[in-house]
Amino acid sequence: MKAIIIGGGIGGLTTAIALQQRGWHYEVYEAAPEYKAVGAGILLGANAMKVYRQLGIADALISQSGHLEQLYIKDYKGKVLQQIDNNLLQQQYGSRSVPIHRATLQAALLGYLNTPVRTGKKCIAVDETQNGVIARFEDGSETKGDILIAADGIRSAVREQYIGSHGYRYSGQTCWRTTVTMNLPMAERTVTSEVWGGKGNGVRASFMHVGGDQVYFWFTRRLPEGTPLTNDEALALIQRELSGFSGHMKEVVAHIDPSKLIRSDLYDLAPTQNWHKGHVVLLGDAAHATTPNLGQGASQAIEDAYALAESLFLHYAPDTAFRHYVAKRMKRAHKIVRMSWQLALLTNWQGSIAAGLRNFLVRNMPASTTKRQLDFLYNIEL
Ligand SMILES: Cc1cc2nc3c(=O)[nH]c(=O)nc-3n(C[C@H](O)[C@H](O)[C@H](O)COP(=O)(O)OP(=O)(O)OC[C@H]3O[C@@H](n4cnc5c(N)ncnc54)[C@H](O)[C@@H]3O)c2cc1C
Repeated sequence: MKAIIIGGGIGGLTTAIALQQRGWHYEVYEAAPEYKAVGAGILLGANAMKVYRQLGIADALISQSGHLEQLYIKDYKGKVLQQIDNNLLQQQYGSRSVPIHRATLQAALLGYLNTPVRTGKKCIAVDETQNGVIARFEDGSETKGDILIAADGIRSAVREQYIGSHGYRYSGQTCWRTTVTMNLPMAERTVTSEVWGGKGNGVRASFMHVGGDQVYFWFTRRLPEGTPLTNDEALALIQRELSGFSGHMKEVVAHIDPSKLIRSDLYDLAPTQNWHKGHVVLLGDAAHATTPNLGQGASQAIEDAYALAESLFLHYAPDTAFRHYVAKRMKRAHKIVRMSWQLALLTNWQGSIAAGLRNFLVRNMPASTTKRQLDFLYNIEL
């Protein structure tokens, strides 16, 4: 059996690895002409790391990542609003959340594939045949497979063209990300804080050590979508908004090269029931893109990859396998989209009174609620 995978992002590459281990043939087609080192980091949730452990690649990733003991949400003065003990995640759920440079993750995943990714292959159309599917590419070429897995991201061309439109929702926030080269003090390497501004307005910032001398930084602010800002203007905005922040934040910002800032206006997909049709199935952001407020988008794509490979192993008929995959994944992925969306709304509250109330609510969240959320996010069965 041969799977055509459209999209060589985290979801597509992890799916290829999972299928390879199940004895499937696969071809991965990536629109970008080549892989470039992405200048940002990512937090792989303890749930994603459980999948990677099952696939036998967790230790290789951990050896090239940062190591976090504690993850905090703090206010800009440094008061702790929420805390996640990463060691406790390890004890309770068998894995911990891992901060890693995206370029490192990408290179590691590519290194596990027996069949190299075909780059410069933008899929523009999908056609069903009696027993399978044909993918057509912008360069005029095509390929046939038994199934097609659309892992082509939030703006999935396969979904739009073949399965149907989903509603894109703008969260009201724009994010800038980058990595900086600097040696953080040891005490700053094992913790990360998502720090919330004092006037709401979506102002949040964070940095985390992602291995070697690399530090990942991100910043969000409430802004109309598409607000025109050059990178220099964005850096000036970041500096202005973070001027009152305590701790090490300003020192990290001082190392930012504006030309290396990556901007993302933050959208998600309104949850939809249509994840498959015929021999075609959606995976990762193409199926259930979420805002990054829970740091779960890629982690959910990674869970999808494992679940889909497992379903295809258990069920020969694609339709049965796809139903099995959807039954395993849809409810959970949609709940994460909803929870993350709620967080975006909460952090968008405007003004210092609203921000103070928001912080009070988050700081006084009952421990049982926090525990329920952690169980939901990280206590997964594969
Ligand atoms: C600011 C920000 C911070 C985030 N932080 C985290 C985090 O800390 N933890 C976490 O788990 N998630 C995080 N995420 C979410 C995460 O990045 C995504 O959920 C994840 O990358 C989705 O992977 P994917 O493979 O489904 O899609 P993508 O990463 O979007 O990959 C899709 C791939 O398909 C290719 N492609 C697109 N169209 C075509 C086509 N027509 N033909 C062929 N190829 C095509 C693209 O070039 C791309 O390589 C964050 C997202 C943002 C925006």
